[in-house]
Amino acid sequence: MRILLVNPPRSLKNLIREHAPPEVRPHVHHKLIGPPLPLIALAGNLAGHEVEVLDLKAEGDLRDDDHLEWESLLDESLVSFRPRVVGVTFNASEYRAGCRILRRVRESDPRIVTAAGGIHAALVPRDFDLPFVDFVFLSQAKATFRRVVEHLDDEVALWKVPNIARRTEEGLRFTPRADVFSDPGLLLEDVRPDRDLISKYREAYRLRKDTPPATYLFTSLGCEGRCTFCSIWPQARGRVFYRPVENILGELREIDQPVVRFADPDTFGDIDRAHHLFDRILAEGIRKEFVADARIDTAAHNPDLIEKAAAAGLRVVICGIESDSPEELRDFQKPYDPALVSRAVDVFHRSGISVRGNYIVQPHFTETEFRRMERFADRHRVAFAGFTVATPMPGTVFHRQVRDRITVRDLDHYNFMNAVLPTALPEKDFYERLASLWKLKRGEEVI
Ligand code: SF4
Repeated sequence: MRILLVNPPRSLKNLIREHAPPEVRPHVHHKLIGPPLPLIALAGNLAGHEVEVLDLKAEGDLRDDDHLEWESLLDESLVSFRPRVVGVTFNASEYRAGCRILRRVRESDPRIVTAAGGIHAALVPRDFDLPFVDFVFLSQAKATFRRVVEHLDDEVALWKVPNIARRTEEGLRFTPRADVFSDPGLLLEDVRPDRDLISKYREAYRLRKDTPPATYLFTSLGCEGRCTFCSIWPQARGRVFYRPVENILGELREIDQPVVRFADPDTFGDIDRAHHLFDRILAEGIRKEFVADARIDTAAHNPDLIEKAAAAGLRVVICGIESDSPEELRDFQKPYDPALVSRAVDVFHRSGISVRGNYIVQPHFTETEFRRMERFADRHRVAFAGFTVATPMPGTVFHRQVRDRITVRDLDHYNFMNAVLPTALPEKDFYERLASLWKLKRGEEVI
């Protein structure tokens, strides 16, 4: 069977950048770059079928065209490849674009079966109760996607596939839930992503223009944290799964890209396992540059682990630094002592690791809070700093807490670069003030 998997274009809505003074603008993050790991993970379990990946982000990046007219590329794929199934992966800010893709597919040929997956589909499946969406995938879909594809003409079997929703005349109907994390038949940890499918986009997947091509790899799924603004733990239903270290090494040995981004929220979540992972990378002589997420408290309390990871190739960490206000951290359910930030940043810097620090600016910030944030970030300047807006992503605790106060419901705005709650300062002042924070870093680079 022919299956087309589509990565939709990014939302370009970025009010921080739009309001940034000209000298600040180049410092404000523009777009997240990286391969569509969830799609190639699905494809890895589709051996025996013909699969194509259309990465509309990479198509635009290769042409250096943020406003790529992707419709003609989709049409070409539909005509030349003639898929029986088209699947799109969704996050919140790409919801509208993804829906336009599936609607166009339906209009081009009503016989094509359409499927929606990704984090937004998992957290807000009701958003996909649409006449042009046939299947919604609610969880890690490597196994269930294949089962659906292979039973498209078998109604009885389709209703037995867990963790999906189907469009019926009465609206979406859900199949029983199953725990992916404790069912090896659903998780399929040994099945590798099919990176060959996106080799034509290789040059697009660079963290910066001057760095070598990167690929993504999961070492774990889910997170032990319970941050109110986070979509990751609700998607994993609070569970965490750590891939066996030898399994990860097997995949690393097959990867030819020089840069590997661990696409986990917390590669260091289990300290003993993280020691073992980096010990084994060193022992095997695997030479890569690694990028990973790491928590402030982990680094501050485990400098030996960070040093070892650096020796094994860790070059950049992404850290949720968030805030120095104990009240804000408590509200976020992020229980670390802000005094640890400087210690953690020192640990990284001593090991030669660059830090991408993420700070959360709240719409209710006044001049006083902006000045506090400025002093905080200035005390421990990191190589790459990102100051984003607290955004109640649908499906999170934060969204439930504030949903009645949300003033912007257009999901194009839900990429952390736009306020969707009322701002205390006049809008123009809020964004200009926020944009100016982006200069508080070491050097000039942006990732
Ligand atoms: S924000 Fe990070 S640490 Fe917090 S729950 Fe999400 S992934 Fe975990």
